Amino acid sequence: MNNNKDSSPLKNPLVIFLIISVVATILLNAAMISLQGSQKKEISYNEFITMLEDKKVDEVIISKNEINIYAKPAKEESGEMRLSSLLGMGSTDSNNREMFYTGYIYDEKLIDKLDAADVKYSTPVEHENPILSFIVTWILPLVIIYLLFFLFMRSMSKRMGGGGGIMGIGQSNAKMYNVEDATGVTFADVAGQEEAKESLDEIVDYLHNPAKYQAIGAKQPRGALLVGPPGTGKTLLAKAVAGEAKVPFFSLSGSEFVEMFVGVGASRVRDLFKQAAAKAPCIIFIDEIDAIGKSRDSQLSTNDEREQTLNQLLNEMDGFDSSKGLVVIAATNRPEILDKALLRPGRFDRRIIVDKPDLKGREDILQVHIKKVKTEPDINLHEMALATSGAAGADLANMVNEAALRAVRLGRRTVSQEDLMEAVEVIIAGKEKKDRILSEKEKQIVSFHEVGHALATAVQKHTQPVHKITIVPRTMGALGYTMQMPEEEEHYLMSKDELLDQITVLLAGRAAEELVFNTKTTGASNDIERATELARNMITMYGMSDKFGMMGLESIQNKYLDGRAVSNCSEETKTAVDNEIIRVLKERYDIALGILRDNRDALDEIAKCLIDEETITGERFMNIFDGVKEKRLHTEENDES
Ligand code: ADP
Ligand code: MG
Ligand code: ZN
Repeated sequence: MNNNKDSSPLKNPLVIFLIISVVATILLNAAMISLQGSQKKEISYNEFITMLEDKKVDEVIISKNEINIYAKPAKEESGEMRLSSLLGMGSTDSNNREMFYTGYIYDEKLIDKLDAADVKYSTPVEHENPILSFIVTWILPLVIIYLLFFLFMRSMSKRMGGGGGIMGIGQSNAKMYNVEDATGVTFADVAGQEEAKESLDEIVDYLHNPAKYQAIGAKQPRGALLVGPPGTGKTLLAKAVAGEAKVPFFSLSGSEFVEMFVGVGASRVRDLFKQAAAKAPCIIFIDEIDAIGKSRDSQLSTNDEREQTLNQLLNEMDGFDSSKGLVVIAATNRPEILDKALLRPGRFDRRIIVDKPDLKGREDILQVHIKKVKTEPDINLHEMALATSGAAGADLANMVNEAALRAVRLGRRTVSQEDLMEAVEVIIAGKEKKDRILSEKEKQIVSFHEVGHALATAVQKHTQPVHKITIVPRTMGALGYTMQMPEEEEHYLMSKDELLDQITVLLAGRAAEELVFNTKTTGASNDIERATELARNMITMYGMSDKFGMMGLESIQNKYLDGRAVSNCSEETKTAVDNEIIRVLKERYDIALGILRDNRDALDEIAKCLIDEETITGERFMNIFDGVKEKRLHTEENDES
């Protein structure tokens, strides 16, 4: 919100607030004045004198710059109609006297005239204290508006999960974090993270019964750090610990500090620990701790606010008495940038890895989420788990929901296996784009391209079987794709042969285009990117090239996010690496071309089938392929005889 970068005054809520208040106050006063004015009728001074002479005036109040005139009440029996009451102006006072006013003119004889007309006259005594009246008309409305605005902002920011609001600058008593007395989440809601759960179990047990640990003199770790890629269930796990231990859950997000006013972060941390200590046993959860816990020396530009916050956090973690049952859990996906001081014993010394789930883990997670939707009896979550290698828990939860949405869209009451598998593809490749019509020529090119991939998969030994080939365009850019799926169990290790075969498969799409149409299209760009990355990793990180041997030329920077690699070698070596990559890719491309040339008959036949049907299953693909091979064998035999 306020990052100091943002210097436009209109973006500053304080300025907006001031403008609103001043305008509102002015309007309020203007409205009051016009309201007062509307009850009286203005007349000219000589009209007043005429009224006076006609003896129509009952009373006159002369103030500094105007004369207020009260006419004698009209006599009902006279039947005289008063103009202003006809007009519905209601310009009478409580004594039913019509009210007029006129400007004050210095008139020596006025008193005589008033006496002559037997009129009561007076002038108001200045009771009014000018300071008081200023306060009432100007300061009070400002204060009231300020208060309203403040309350509004506070309720807004509370709803947004924080507290304090913009007016709470420097106030430490405003709540600035979330408290849940019961999270309602248990370990049963978290699947596929058995090791993490085991590590956290001890904390749960400790929160249940701190005395047991104290009796033996064991000190409970003060903090645990959950480390892993986004969406793997770190937040969920922390909540589950609180839920299992049945203790309150205090949570705040590291990123919220950075956008706050200077000085607030530290006071927030102090306040959080104070409040939590009062409610102990409980859990404090700091999400995205890397936002505050960034290593202090790695910064080019320093961020005072963050540093203060971090210092306060370090302070509090040293200070609190863990025997009370206060446990701090933090989560991050960038553990390598955390300040060393945070990780030393007595602080976040327990590191719990929450990695992406394996095959069994994925099946378990799906099992958890599938319970939330109505399904047909014959769904096969194992198949779905096989097809979702690399997906995190959040992705899987999303897929189940996506499948349910599809079922609703198609007017069904239960989720079918087809919905689930389609949802997997939607997450991987985007929604089907049936309205994008490919031209006949494009359709042919895409078909041959995809069948090229599929054939390279089928012919080579170290590959995963083809699951499906389709040329129905998807929203995420693919005009068609070939889906591979492992048969059973997942691989944790990849051999050099497997990687090389994979590169061949990726390049076989373009090889088919070139072989059949003698053309090169943009459809291969993603294949090229992935093939190049594989080849580079083989050389720079896996020690799989003869030329560079075991030298580590690159290292991964943030393992749990994008996994970007940084180079550790000289410029010359980099050039040599590039040349080596070019060589590998060329070699694999030629192999792909060779495979397709040898199987040209199958390529043509399967592509023709794909153009007609748009989507074929892996099974059908293998059937056609086997059929073609059989035919080939026959003709060869016939040729020989
Ligand atoms: P993180 O904090 O690691 O980024 P979250 O804990 O916020 O991820 O997970 C987001 C959602 O994904 C959860 O609310 C849950 O629905 C689902 N999810 C993630 N991991 C799991 C898991 N291991 N078991 C069950 N659901 C999970
Ligand atoms: Mg999270
Ligand atoms: Zn391709």
